Amino acid sequence: MFWFRAHLRTVEISLSICEETIGTDMIKLTGVKKSFNSLEVLKGIDLELLRGDSMVLIGGSGSGKSLLMKSMIGLMCPDDGLVEIDGRDLQKMGEVERRTFDDRFGMLFQYGGLFDGMTVWQNIAFKQLQSGRMSEREAREMAADKLSIVNLGSEVSDLYPAELSGGMQKRVGLARAIATNPEVLFLDEPTAGLDPIMCNIIYDMILKSVQELGATSFVITSDMTGARRISNKVAMLHDGRIGWQGATEDLEHSDNPEVRRFLESKSGRSGDVAA
Ligand code: ADP
Ligand code: MG
Repeated sequence: MFWFRAHLRTVEISLSICEETIGTDMIKLTGVKKSFNSLEVLKGIDLELLRGDSMVLIGGSGSGKSLLMKSMIGLMCPDDGLVEIDGRDLQKMGEVERRTFDDRFGMLFQYGGLFDGMTVWQNIAFKQLQSGRMSEREAREMAADKLSIVNLGSEVSDLYPAELSGGMQKRVGLARAIATNPEVLFLDEPTAGLDPIMCNIIYDMILKSVQELGATSFVITSDMTGARRISNKVAMLHDGRIGWQGATEDLEHSDNPEVRRFLESKSGRSGDVAA
């Protein structure tokens, strides 16, 4: 009985923490700009990712979506503008503080980004092995646990990425993204190049991972069916700026000409192949 009360109390406390923090700013971009020589890609991005949001970023191929995601996690340094994480200026953070944020973020790169020379379990446990925080046995166990979340058996643990199908590589990428139990999941075109059935499987896994971690998510996709399934908010990147943002259910009714053009270009298509 005591245990039950204590447990209930823990649940109450964690619920009250969630209630306090949900909807507060997690990542905020103000006037973010990035150019390459004469090519102005990001011309002044204003965007807020709130705790508990599941946001999808859409936009044409080459519009700067990957670049924008990289700027949110400090992998790309903007020419101008401000990126704040929990109100702290990302550019002013020291190495140690930056590293603590790294653990709070999980990322799946556009082209999978698995290391060819490492086995599946080593890829998943990369951060923990690199920092020496886990023994090999612990890392293997953690990797097996994450593999089960993405519906892969531990028999793939010792395989190399080249031995896996495209869909399996994406799942391993997702398992690696959730390896540190991150607070925010960043996924860059997680279903690109996959057939519609595999796209659905991946979206189910994203939903399951976000739910199990209680995570905030930011996903780049051009698959509107998937976007509707996994997001509560959508932002559209057009001509270097956020041209439209709002609730996912409002996207359909938007009279923004760029949104209409984008949706029309995607209608009847599934998968991310074009982006
Ligand atoms: P998206 O993900 O929307 O397809 P990206 O963010 O990958 O677009 O790229 C946007 C534009 O920025 C492209 O024209 C690309 O060529 C350019 N770009 C991105 N990264 C670099 C880089 N490191 N050097 C030069 N140009 C880049
Ligand atoms: Mg991209």
